[in-house]
Amino acid sequence: MSILNKFIVNALPLIPKPVVGQVAKRYIAGTTLPDAVRVVRDLNGKNMMATMDLLGEDVKDGGEANQVKSNIIPILQAIKENALNSNMSIKPTQLGLKIDKELCFRNVKEVICEAAKLNNFVRIDMEDATTTDDTLELYRLLRKDGLNNMGVVIQAYMRRSESDVRMLVKEGANIRLCKGIYNESPSIAYKGHQEIRDNYLRLLQLILDGGSYVGVATHDDFLLDRAVPMIQKFGLSKNQYEFQMLLGVRENRRNEIVKDGHRLRVYVPYGEQWYAYSTRRLKENPLMAWYITKAIFVR
Ligand SMILES: Cc1cc2nc3c(=O)[nH]c(=O)nc-3n(C[C@H](O)[C@H](O)[C@H](O)COP(=O)(O)OP(=O)(O)OC[C@H]3O[C@@H](n4cnc5c(N)ncnc54)[C@H](O)[C@@H]3O)c2cc1C
Repeated sequence: MSILNKFIVNALPLIPKPVVGQVAKRYIAGTTLPDAVRVVRDLNGKNMMATMDLLGEDVKDGGEANQVKSNIIPILQAIKENALNSNMSIKPTQLGLKIDKELCFRNVKEVICEAAKLNNFVRIDMEDATTTDDTLELYRLLRKDGLNNMGVVIQAYMRRSESDVRMLVKEGANIRLCKGIYNESPSIAYKGHQEIRDNYLRLLQLILDGGSYVGVATHDDFLLDRAVPMIQKFGLSKNQYEFQMLLGVRENRRNEIVKDGHRLRVYVPYGEQWYAYSTRRLKENPLMAWYITKAIFVR
């Protein structure tokens, strides 16, 4: 990260929200469900799949967690009604994980059952390391209850991920593999750029060896250029894997992947709670300092 980017990252909390919003709007479909439907329809028209996400996390109150669940279920219905090629992603802490695991289990189960009724699939996002055990436990309890239309996320920066992957492939899990976005301690996470990449490829190899469905979630050329031949070596058909990217990131590379005949899914977040997600995305943007400076001075 450049020195200027580092400086702006530290200063982000001081930057007025409208400025952050101006720069971050490329990462968000909008604030309402119809906004997200419009964006997904447009992506589907370009031969891309989507996963829709209602923004929000770290809910501290049970009533709010239940309300989020009630706001999430209409997304599944909108997907069906609009014949969209999209599934959805959820965050356990927006459905109550940090308040009460039982409450979270009930909420997530209701969402996944609704998705099953509508023949759809739910990805359980992985949040910071304080939630990893509970999230995997939640996933396993739901599987035990007979639900299969869901998958988990593995973060390549986590030192524990190799052992998690070894277990998950034995269980036949559907896995999204990403680098990981939260700021974890070096005692539990790889911190070096290249060591995270190396672990990513090790994990991808384990997932492919184990025969699990994988969502290769990255915009990193180094990883994409190596993932393609790894997948080809296994002779996988198109519906045995997919690539995944975030809305507003590396659209040229996204188009190339689709042109090369792979399936690609775009993560489409929307909602009023855009700030936490947007700042995480901005921190990953190599041109962030330039965009923020421009937004401050050219208004
Ligand atoms: C579909 C999807 C779902 C995800 N789900 C999770 C999850 O559940 N839990 C989790 O911890 N993380 C999740 N992530 C985030 C992920 O962990 C990384 O933080 C993020 O994808 C950036 O890593 P990268 O592999 O693209 O590599 P990077 O090295 O960060 O990026 C590679 C290149 O992509 C470009 N780029 C990347 N990000 C941006 C940006 N924001 N703006 C502009 N250019 C950019 C840059 O050119 C950069 O050099 C998800 C990512 C994707 C794609």
